[in-house]
Amino acid sequence: MTQLSVCKVRHRMLGRTYEGQICSVARTLGVIGDRWTMLIVRDAFLGVRRFDDFQRSLGIARNVLDSRLSRLCDDGILERRLYQERPERYEYRLTEMGHDLWPVLVSLMQWGDRHLSDDGPPILVQHRDCGGAVTPGLTCEKCGATLTARDTQVRPGPGLPEGHPEPVQPAYLRAIARAGSSSASSRRSSSKVSRGRTKTSSQV
Ligand SMILES: [Zn+2]
Repeated sequence: MTQLSVCKVRHRMLGRTYEGQICSVARTLGVIGDRWTMLIVRDAFLGVRRFDDFQRSLGIARNVLDSRLSRLCDDGILERRLYQERPERYEYRLTEMGHDLWPVLVSLMQWGDRHLSDDGPPILVQHRDCGGAVTPGLTCEKCGATLTARDTQVRPGPGLPEGHPEPVQPAYLRAIARAGSSSASSRRSSSKVSRGRTKTSSQV
């Protein structure tokens, strides 16, 4: 048996659910506990929409990304939307259920900032209006406003090494793609990108 097929069997055996657990933590992990899944959700909050942009941002194998995106759609976290008809191209948007993961994402980040980031936070999440930091209670440290993902922006923090790409931005990713492969036919360089803002399925 090859190394790859051993991995596949092991993955199948591990599964993604926790049978016998009547517990919302276990149920939530059944949806977002796979490797890469929360990073895809993170990128979706940062405004990434398209398969190639997720792939460029995360650097994961396309088949893994495809499987994670499909699962996130099946589970109701993301939805696919047609943005180009010929050839058909889809983008991935957070649903209302997906938007509800924002506090989870912020908590994961803040825990990592506190316990795993010796050089300080690599990324800062700030209130878009005043630049105040997001508190654990999801309010603005400076002005006290209650914050949602839509009220915030991200900035490089002190823990981001010099020369490291700044927090993911679709336009930035697309610029890399253009520089590397200006003839790629499936990408439209003039496409409109709404940066950092997301819409929920219930609003459109
Ligand atoms: Zn503020």
